[in-house]
Amino acid sequence: MMSGNMIGKIFDFLAHKVCFTFAVSFFSTLGATAAVPALIFIVATIPYETPSDFHRDVAVCTTLIILAALTHYILYGLGRLWGKKWEHRDLCMLNDHVTGSLLMKDIPTPELREISSLMERLPGKNLRMAMLLSLPVVIIGAVQHYVFTDNVINALYFFRGGVIAWITYITFTYIITELITTNLRRSTRLILADRNAWEGAQNSTTLSIKFAFIIILMITSMVITHGVSTSTVIESTAKAVMVFWVLNLVVGVFMCVLVFLSILITLNEIEATATQLSEEKRARFISGSIDREFVNTAMGLYRAANKIIKYRDDLHNLNVNLEQKVRERTEQIELLSRTDPLTECFNRGYLIENLPQEIKKARRYHRPFSLVMCDLDHFKEVNDTHGHQVGDQVLKEFVECIRGAFRSDVDWVARYGGEEFVIALPETDVGGGGILAERIRKSIEQRKILVGAREINITVSFGVTGFEPGTPTERVSAEDLIREADRCLYQAKEEGRNRVVICPL
Ligand code: GH3
Ligand code: MG
Ligand code: MG
Repeated sequence: MMSGNMIGKIFDFLAHKVCFTFAVSFFSTLGATAAVPALIFIVATIPYETPSDFHRDVAVCTTLIILAALTHYILYGLGRLWGKKWEHRDLCMLNDHVTGSLLMKDIPTPELREISSLMERLPGKNLRMAMLLSLPVVIIGAVQHYVFTDNVINALYFFRGGVIAWITYITFTYIITELITTNLRRSTRLILADRNAWEGAQNSTTLSIKFAFIIILMITSMVITHGVSTSTVIESTAKAVMVFWVLNLVVGVFMCVLVFLSILITLNEIEATATQLSEEKRARFISGSIDREFVNTAMGLYRAANKIIKYRDDLHNLNVNLEQKVRERTEQIELLSRTDPLTECFNRGYLIENLPQEIKKARRYHRPFSLVMCDLDHFKEVNDTHGHQVGDQVLKEFVECIRGAFRSDVDWVARYGGEEFVIALPETDVGGGGILAERIRKSIEQRKILVGAREINITVSFGVTGFEPGTPTERVSAEDLIREADRCLYQAKEEGRNRVVICPL
């Protein structure tokens, strides 16, 4: 018991390496029965000359124990090798569920509860069985000895040695079984507690078994002291009685210490198990709940994040669409705001806004620029003769005419008002502007505008102005240019219409 940890480790190792029941069987009940052949062997081989030889008795008993255990161990090993379970039912049942010294976690709870109670009872049960089975062996041994030697005293001394062997054997059986099953008992409790099924009541069983063990140890001490006191080594009765009482006192004190230690160890064990349980359960609960919280929160966040991403994408798409639409609308509005709805050329607003920029650009890069102002001749008559709608159609066709004549990428035309138009010609000097105006004039003059069944002809007057790259234009403004073009146009009208008048600045 003192070196319990060391022995425990050894037997744990044995239990783990060999197998649980194999280890337990070494000191189990059938081991006790297996002492019979060993006993016969001893009886047959060791001669008894001095019947009161105490040392001889101890040697016989020790040999008896070792041989009995080994025989059982070998028999049991062979039995397992041949697939036979030469072991009592509980050990077999346990062995089915225990691999090495480990318990399978997936054992059903009722079965685990049964295993747990078996574990608690096993040392005590093993002890009782060993007592019951091996005591007759000792008695049979003594009887055999009497039969062989025909000496009652010898047989009685043999019986004394046998009893010592018997007590030693069952004591070891108990201690070793207890040591081997301790860890397993603890793990069954833990697994059960883990399933909220353990009630902790099993500890009382362990405690009672330990008390039984202590009582047995006390009987042992009495037997030993009796054996010593009746030995022929101590001659006088007084001495024998003294030795008996001294020994009994020593053993009594030893027993008291054992009782105290046993209760202390048991209480410690209960406390440690309870603490371990509560801590493990607490830790498991905390970590479990934290894990659960964490997982739930994480999942919630993940789902929320997914939704946010989806909303963000939707919003982004909506924004993109909206921006696209706004852009389109703005472009449309801008287009409308600078376009003449009838002729679809630029309007006066566009002209006022853009002409200064065109002039500035031309001036900065020292490029020529010319401006053509044109006005339909006697347009009032067209309206009066053919109606306003026809007049509109004429206006449209005139703009088409202009567009067909100029470079659509740089030149542009704006309706200045009524039937007056302004054509801006960047990169074109006044001569070039005059040529273009002439081309348009001819084109519209030759054009036959269909009005129902009839054809009508119109003419247009042009005033052209502009500046060459070299001309000092610092003070030339859009208004100046328009005024000058208008003056030329007026001149063209004055000169008889349907003509181009060029007035360079
Ligand atoms: P001139 O040769 O001197 O330019 O004679 P004109 O008749 O063309 O000139 P006037 O200024 O007397 O007449 C311009 C006419 O243009 C008056 C107006 O009714 C007409 N007009 C102006 N804007 C439009 C329009 O959008 N559609 C139509 N159908 N006629 C318009
Ligand atoms: Mg006119
Ligand atoms: Mg006019």
